[in-house]
Amino acid sequence: MSVAQTSLLTVDEKSKSPFRRRLALLRPLAQPTTVFGLALIGLLWICVAQLVWTERMSLQRSSEQDTANIALVVEQNVERTSSELDRILKFLRETYESNGYKADWPKLVQEKFTIDDQTVQIAVIDKTGMMITSTAMLYPRKPINLSDREHFQVHVHSKRDFLFISKPVFGRASHKWSVQFTRRFNNADGSFAGVLVISLDPRLLAKAYSTLKLGPGSGIVLLGDDGVIRAGSGIYADALGSRYVGPEPTKSLRNTAGTKVISVGEPGGRGRIIASRRVAGYPLTVIVTADNSAKTASERHKELIYFVAAGTFSLAILFAIVTIAYRRHRFEMEIIKLARHDYLTGLSNRLHFSEILDSSFALAQEGGNFALHVIDLDGFKSINDTYGHPIGDCLLLAVAQRLQANLRKTDVLARLGGDEFAIIQVLTTDENDAALLAARMCEVIAQPFQIGRLNLNISASIGIALGVSDADTMADLLRVADLALYTAKEGGRATFRFFSQDMNEKVVARRDLESGLAKALERGELQLFYQPIVSVASNEVVGYEALLRWRHPERGLVSPAEFIPIAEQTGLIIPIGEWIFGQACADLAKCPEDRTVSVNCAPIQFKSENLVPSVKRALAASGLQGSRLRIEITESTLMQNDGATLAKLDELRALGIGVSIDDFGTGFSCLGYLQRYPIDCIKIDRAFVLNLVNGRSGTSIVRAIIALACGLEMSTIAEGVETEDQLRELAEMGCTHVQGFLFGKPRPASEILPRREGMMNAA
Ligand code: C2E
Ligand code: CA
Ligand code: CA
Repeated sequence: MSVAQTSLLTVDEKSKSPFRRRLALLRPLAQPTTVFGLALIGLLWICVAQLVWTERMSLQRSSEQDTANIALVVEQNVERTSSELDRILKFLRETYESNGYKADWPKLVQEKFTIDDQTVQIAVIDKTGMMITSTAMLYPRKPINLSDREHFQVHVHSKRDFLFISKPVFGRASHKWSVQFTRRFNNADGSFAGVLVISLDPRLLAKAYSTLKLGPGSGIVLLGDDGVIRAGSGIYADALGSRYVGPEPTKSLRNTAGTKVISVGEPGGRGRIIASRRVAGYPLTVIVTADNSAKTASERHKELIYFVAAGTFSLAILFAIVTIAYRRHRFEMEIIKLARHDYLTGLSNRLHFSEILDSSFALAQEGGNFALHVIDLDGFKSINDTYGHPIGDCLLLAVAQRLQANLRKTDVLARLGGDEFAIIQVLTTDENDAALLAARMCEVIAQPFQIGRLNLNISASIGIALGVSDADTMADLLRVADLALYTAKEGGRATFRFFSQDMNEKVVARRDLESGLAKALERGELQLFYQPIVSVASNEVVGYEALLRWRHPERGLVSPAEFIPIAEQTGLIIPIGEWIFGQACADLAKCPEDRTVSVNCAPIQFKSENLVPSVKRALAASGLQGSRLRIEITESTLMQNDGATLAKLDELRALGIGVSIDDFGTGFSCLGYLQRYPIDCIKIDRAFVLNLVNGRSGTSIVRAIIALACGLEMSTIAEGVETEDQLRELAEMGCTHVQGFLFGKPRPASEILPRREGMMNAA
């Protein structure tokens, strides 16, 4: 993570609560794939739930069906058994009746019947309740009184003929449980003669159970209409004779036609299914209770497999969601990083830097003061031009590394573009911190750079603005830091400046000048002054230099030194320059023909295709001969070093126009151009003339320039000649022309330009 990122994080994170910070970790998940994945998981679980529900329901239905089937089988079995027993009773009675209402009971009861005699006993009771005979004891040795038995009492007290099925009774003789199926038999006159009894082992009634696999916890009950259990098996094996207690009232079970099924507990889950069926034609109801546990257990196992499968699948989807989301997030972060970082140095770019700067203001609210350093490399362009862009790039990278190496972790370095860098420095004490850092940065950049085999020297100018005290918005802070940088550059480069309020005032004044200058031409506020140029040999005026003046409506006369640079930077010098040519030619056309006019021409004017046509127009309009016009260009125009400049100079020369080099020796002199370009005259700068008398260095430079011009057959004009001493010395050196206050200050045309003879008359 770069320093910039760390700091941005610090800034961002500080303003967040720990909870929000944790929440922010989940932000990458907020994506359509996440929603889709979660929906998929939801759907999966809905399907699993549906499947489980359906299977439970089908299990329930099949269990219910099974239980109902068992109830049906048991009911049919009971019905068959009951009807068989009843048939035996009726057979015994019919045999007795057809025999004239008497019978040899011991013999009769021994007949072979279909019913197994192990489980069935037949007995005959007389009308007093004494047992006549029984298959278990054909001739009772002592009298057995059964008059208290229910099955006897029921028939004594009723005149009706019906089959009675008793509650289970524990046999006094047999010591076994039995249920009695009984019918009365009558005498010939229809009076009560006794009771025929078939005792049945209740196990026989429920014997179907053993062949049907109901499973543990299940059971079968044969219930009488009185609610007492006649026979039972499974869990009801020991419930003989007791009252049945079930989830439904016994009465309702008894009254239902067909099979009634009740489920207790959760459907398809642990619980019981109770199926009841009325035994057709008998006062009995079959109740089958099936415990689902066993079936449910295997079902549960299956469900568990479903859940584990669905869970595994869900986890896989979740894993995919998280992987996709975080991969995408990383990708997005990478894109964001690329969009916010400089490809060459890897530092934050202007966009990212602005964001960090913006959040630095937020931190500053909490007292975190900071300084903004705007760094510009001096002379980088010429290194780029001289050695090419690859070397320039290597140098920029090396500069970035050197700057970064000298920063603390809390400081942020960015490349704003080209050779412009910026630092946000967190101030721990006061602005002295910023001065120390800037001085260190100037120093480290001033150390030579070894790029391949090249040893390159460069310097840095730094503008510093202090967060919040100098500006309270990001844009303002950048602007004032730029102003400070501009001042540092003006102040000789390789240094730093803090922003101060007067820089702002200068900018405001400059902006006023800019807008005023744009209108000055059309408002007629511009005027040309002329300063005489004198021949040393004849001591006579041979020409004039046209010098521009601006009569500012509020400020009065503004110096060209102040507004010409603005006109050059804004491009206004092009229309103004055209006007100057027109005005100077028109003014000079009225002067005696032996006078020339010199017009200053800025480098940028040579970039305009309009220069030569506008000069031609000026000459044509005024009727001035080309040989009476001179243009003054500076060394920097020649340093533009392109074919177009040379072509324009040739075209001007072809019109007879002379070319002078202005301010010679003050720029980057490269004497080669004196040979390459068609130049007539060298103007020796005032700075050298000023040092003529009192300093030896001035003398030798002026001498050298004059000798050079002489050798190249060029004339010389010494500027700024103010004293007779200067004039004498220049004359001795062989200077051909002079110009300066000694001969006259620049004045308006009307005050200084002489009129031609004819013109005077015309006037
Ligand atoms: P420059 O071309 O070197 O003009 C000579 C400057 O020296 C003029 O200043 C002039 O007034 C001043 N000067 C002449 N003799 C003496 C002297 O004896 N002592 C002192 N102290 N100064 C003297 P000015 O008129 O203020 O012009 C300043 C500069 O503005 C010019 O320097 C020239 O570079 C630029 N400039 C003036 N007029 C024009 C123009 O029409 N076009 C362009 N492109 N630049 C112009
Ligand atoms: Ca000049
Ligand atoms: Ca000059």
